[in-house]
Amino acid sequence: MKITRVEPFHVSWGSGRGRSAWVRIWTDTGLFGLGEASPMVHGNASLEIIASAFTPALLGADPMEARVIQDRLFHEHIKVGPEGAYAAALAAVDIALWDLKGKALGQPVWKLLGGAWRRELPFYASIGGNGQRTVDEVCRVVEGWLELGPAQVKIRFDADKTTRDVDLAGDIAKARAVRTLVGDGFPLAFDSNNGYSVQGAIRVGRALEELGYVWFEEPVQHYHVESFAKVAAALDIAVSAGEQEYTLQGIKRLIEAGVDIVQPDIVKTGGFTGLGDMAALARAYGVDLVPHQTQPSIGHTANLHFVASLTHSHHPAEYNGPREIQDVVFKTPVRPTRGKFVLSDAPGLGLELDEDELKKRMVPWESSAAR
Ligand code: CA
Repeated sequence: MKITRVEPFHVSWGSGRGRSAWVRIWTDTGLFGLGEASPMVHGNASLEIIASAFTPALLGADPMEARVIQDRLFHEHIKVGPEGAYAAALAAVDIALWDLKGKALGQPVWKLLGGAWRRELPFYASIGGNGQRTVDEVCRVVEGWLELGPAQVKIRFDADKTTRDVDLAGDIAKARAVRTLVGDGFPLAFDSNNGYSVQGAIRVGRALEELGYVWFEEPVQHYHVESFAKVAAALDIAVSAGEQEYTLQGIKRLIEAGVDIVQPDIVKTGGFTGLGDMAALARAYGVDLVPHQTQPSIGHTANLHFVASLTHSHHPAEYNGPREIQDVVFKTPVRPTRGKFVLSDAPGLGLELDEDELKKRMVPWESSAAR
């Protein structure tokens, strides 16, 4: 089997709804694989990297050799990366190659990853935008989410990254109100989205410990690794981070700083191949890996296959909510039933495209090299 065509494209979800950055990799067998890159700035930079830098190396390659392909691509243009859009471009290609591999072998990706530790995956409700809501509004939004049956709830603050410690007392009040709403014992997580100074984080973290929260996510700026070390050393609650890391070395630095849970993302960290290495690293250190993932279709499905293969994992998978507008391009959208995502035996990622619906929304990426 040989790669015959690499097709990076946007899927436009309608005005004001943004775009997804996808890649379809075709082979001489007629089979294709689907991948997705991180959506930052619509994934424009990743699509360009795939089109102009990666495609020449991919044409003619055997898609079954995903690890070797990734290593070659990683090193060939490493000065453009290795982080950010570059790692996300590697991720899109790798996810597509694993989808292809599964289709060629007639096996689901979770099985090719070594089998499923769990095939029924509980999820946690990842609820953003709480910095801008009142205490009451936060509770109403959480209440709505509880109807979907999450195993855990995470409240995110999505704060302005250029200001810190804007409303520590207000944030603690929201954390307390949500605890009262869900009752003692229900697992809760708190994500400051890099909103605090070390001192602010320690103050909020102590409140979260008292309220029985499971983890405290990105308390400080992600690039201040020393600040993570100070916060983690001062608190008993598990400190988590890693959604803004792209390399194995970046995750290693966080673990060595004392972060208790690492959260790399499959659409940013080299897909199954990159994330698999990070899982092995976390296991060696005895640190939990709970992937970040908020893209509702390909990224989310790829993440579920990956999470299913994580041995000894008991954490729920991140879920950013159903997006009906994005389901329309698939005949088989992945949705939870009674609080769980259940993985099927369908080959590859198990995503069946509705080609007519996709055509209506597809915007081919025209490489600047071809213009
Ligand atoms: Ca986060």
